[in-house]
Amino acid sequence: MAAALLRRTACLRSLVHQSLRGGDASLRQPKGADNYYRYTSGTPSCLQQASSPCVYSNEDEYADLDWDKLGFGSIPTDYMYITKSAKDGNFEQGHVSRYGSVELNPAAGVLNYGQGIYEGTKAYRKENGHLVLFRPDQNAIRMKMGADRMCMACPSVEQFVEAVKETALANRRWVPPPGKGTLYIRPLLIGSGPILGLSPAPEFTFLVYSSPVGNYFKEGIAPLNLYVEEEFHRASPGGTGGVKSITNYAPVLKALANAKSRGFSDVLYLDSVNKKYLEEVSSCNVFLVKGNLISTPVARGTILAGVTRRSIIEIAQDQGYQVDERTIAVEELFDADEVFCTGTAVGVAPVGSITYQNRRAEYRTKSQSVSEELYVILEGIRRGLIEDKKGWTIEI
Ligand SMILES: *Cc1c(COP(=O)(O)O)cnc(C)c1O
Repeated sequence: MAAALLRRTACLRSLVHQSLRGGDASLRQPKGADNYYRYTSGTPSCLQQASSPCVYSNEDEYADLDWDKLGFGSIPTDYMYITKSAKDGNFEQGHVSRYGSVELNPAAGVLNYGQGIYEGTKAYRKENGHLVLFRPDQNAIRMKMGADRMCMACPSVEQFVEAVKETALANRRWVPPPGKGTLYIRPLLIGSGPILGLSPAPEFTFLVYSSPVGNYFKEGIAPLNLYVEEEFHRASPGGTGGVKSITNYAPVLKALANAKSRGFSDVLYLDSVNKKYLEEVSSCNVFLVKGNLISTPVARGTILAGVTRRSIIEIAQDQGYQVDERTIAVEELFDADEVFCTGTAVGVAPVGSITYQNRRAEYRTKSQSVSEELYVILEGIRRGLIEDKKGWTIEI
């Protein structure tokens, strides 16, 4: 008790020396620290602070947040990781610094030509309080592929994983208690150097920030109602649908807004050539279940091959299901027993209905559903309730 108190006091003391530039400090400051902040205008000594033992020693301390009210909003946490590429395209040794705004040249490649890719991964808290990352190497590899497509320099897999680890550890008090949510971690690679003519930016910045999250959809864990979009498309052959390019997301906002205004949860996109085959949802992959067969659209460049998608395919096969990655005609929606979506942010989300051309298909979503069976296993592995025989988790 006394030791914990001492640690906490030491930590508070250290905190008051930190700069509070950027973000909403009131969300971050520990209880009782109000008086100190008055005396601490802009001391930019973040680097030492970030790696000071204080951050890592208050293991059992949680940020002051109502963990029962988490949605998928952006809540600023204490630290972010940042580094930039040198002339040779290699990235400098990065570091965590205080979370805050970044400064960009108006001619930055990302601002003018959309040269940017992102990733999404999570830190989970096990019942014993320890923190776990789930397959961050897969995100690192995907970022490398995306960077190649977008003509960007990219950190190595090791550097990426290390950055995710450091960000999670530095913000550990923001990792929600088990069962309340997770710390969503957002690695971001942007063309930060100035460029006027169309060409790759001369410098890239890699940063990793995080936010505690609960359910992605406002429906919570209630089944989703999807709308099959026919006017707008998310991706096209030869385009960038298969990588997490920032340029893939603003263009779907219109379709998403239309669907939401009509009471739907999200949009299910069709292929842009035949307008007939299922692709995916705005930010997650889709699966159909029919008897013992689980099908998901094959990822051939227009679909983002999710880490969750791949993991669920493997778990389903282990459970004795037949899993097919194939071309799925939209008409098959009316023949499926069950449909669900997968993604780091959404988890494994059951779909209650899908509407296509004024026809509405409804699905099984009860607790005996296949999606629930698979989700329980996936979540069990992440939370340390089921032994991880696949080497998917990294305790940090
Ligand atoms: C991120 C994303 C997914 C899910 O990928 P995960 O690796 O499982 O998080 C699926 N579709 C789109 C369009 C995405 O952006």
